[in-house]
Amino acid sequence: MKTIRELYRIGTGPSSSHTMAPRRATERFLAEHPGTAALRVTLYGGLAATGKGHLTDVAIRDAADPVPVEIAWEASEELPEHPNGMRLEALDDAGAVIGSHTEYSIGGGALLGDEPSPDIYPHSTMTPILRHCQEAGESFWEYVGQVEGDSIWEFLGGIWEAMNRAVERGLHADGAIPGGLGVYRRAHALYSKSRMLESGFRADARLAAYAYAVAEENACAGEVVTAPTCGASGVLPAVLCYFRDEFENDREDILRALATAGLFGNVAKSNASISAALVGCQGEVGVACAMAAAAAAQLFGGSPQQIEYAAEMGLEHHFGLTCDPVRGLVQIPCIERNAHAAARAISCARFALLSDGLHRITFDDAVSVLLETGQALPRLYRETAGGGLAGVYEKRIAERDNGPGRSS
Ligand code: SF4
Repeated sequence: MKTIRELYRIGTGPSSSHTMAPRRATERFLAEHPGTAALRVTLYGGLAATGKGHLTDVAIRDAADPVPVEIAWEASEELPEHPNGMRLEALDDAGAVIGSHTEYSIGGGALLGDEPSPDIYPHSTMTPILRHCQEAGESFWEYVGQVEGDSIWEFLGGIWEAMNRAVERGLHADGAIPGGLGVYRRAHALYSKSRMLESGFRADARLAAYAYAVAEENACAGEVVTAPTCGASGVLPAVLCYFRDEFENDREDILRALATAGLFGNVAKSNASISAALVGCQGEVGVACAMAAAAAAQLFGGSPQQIEYAAEMGLEHHFGLTCDPVRGLVQIPCIERNAHAAARAISCARFALLSDGLHRITFDDAVSVLLETGQALPRLYRETAGGGLAGVYEKRIAERDNGPGRSS
C-alpha cells in the first residue's frame, strides 16, 4: 500500500477526477510537447458526461494557457482502461498532429500514467494492521508514523491548515454558487444561526456549517483537500473542527486523527476504488464517512477495534449510494450529502464506543462489498448525470418548458 500523501491532495475543486487530474494531465503533456501551437482534447465517458458541470474544460484551458484548446465531448464512448478517459493531441501551426497521449483519471486526482510510487506499507488490508496494532499495543496513528516516518507530521500539518483555510473561506463567503441551478451558499447563515441554539444543537449546526463551508468552496472551484476526493472534501474537516471546538482537541490530536483517517481511506482506495465513475458516491462520500468515523472514534478515545468498527459502519451504511449530480454540478446532492455524512460519522463513532467493539463484518469485508456493489450499479448511476436526481430534475425542467409528458 502506498503513502497516505497520495490520498490527501491540496487542489482546486470541484472534482478531483474532473479538474485536478485533467489539469495535471494537460500540464504534463504540454511540458513534454513544448512546440505545441494548439491543443485538442477529447473527453470520453464520465469525463465528458459530467465534465461541463464539473468545470473540466475550464481546468484544461487554464492549465494550457496561453496555448489555445479545442475540446470534444464523447460521453457515449468509453476508452478501455477506465470510464474517465481523455486523449490529448498537440497540433502544429498547420493543424497537424505532432504528438498524442491517452490518459485516464482514476479517482482522487490520480492519473493512470502517474509515475508508480513504491508500496511502503507492509500490509494492504485492515485486518492484519488491526492485529499488528493489538499485538504491539500500538495505535493506528503510531503505525502510520512508523511506516511513513517523522516527516508525515509536517505533511499532515499542511493538510490540516489547508482544510482550515477552506472552512474559514467557506464560512465567510456568501452568494450564489456558479452553474445556473440557483443554489446559494448556506454555510455562513448556518453558522450564524447556530449562535442562538443550545449547546448540543449548536454543535450539530456547526458541524453542518463546516461541511457546507468546504463543499461550497469546492463547488465554487476553491482550494480544498481530497479526503478522499474533492466531492467529499467537506466530511473530514467538519468532523475535525467539531472535535476542536467541542472537546478542545489540540493540533497533535487532530494530526493523529488525520493519520488514522488516511490509513482507512488508503485501504479503501487500494482494495476497491474512490472513483465515482467506477463505484458511485459510496466510493467518495461513503469512504469519507468511514475515514471521519475512524478519526472521531480515535478522538473519543476508542480502542483500535472500536475505531475499525466505526469505520466499517461508516462505509457499510453507504452501500449502493449513487452518483447522480444534477446538471453534472457538484452541488445537488453533493453539498448536503457532505453534512449528512459528517453527522453519520460521529454517530458511528459514538455507537462503536458504546459497544464492546465486537462485530461480525470487518472493514475489509465492507471494502470488498463497496467494490462489488459499485460494479453492479448500472452505469447510469456512476457519475453520468443522466439518471436519479439528475434525470428527474431534467424531466421536470422539460415539462415546465414544454408541457406535461413532453421531455423535449
Ligand atoms: S453525487 Fe457524490 S460522487 Fe457524485 S459528484 Fe456528488 S459528491 Fe461526488
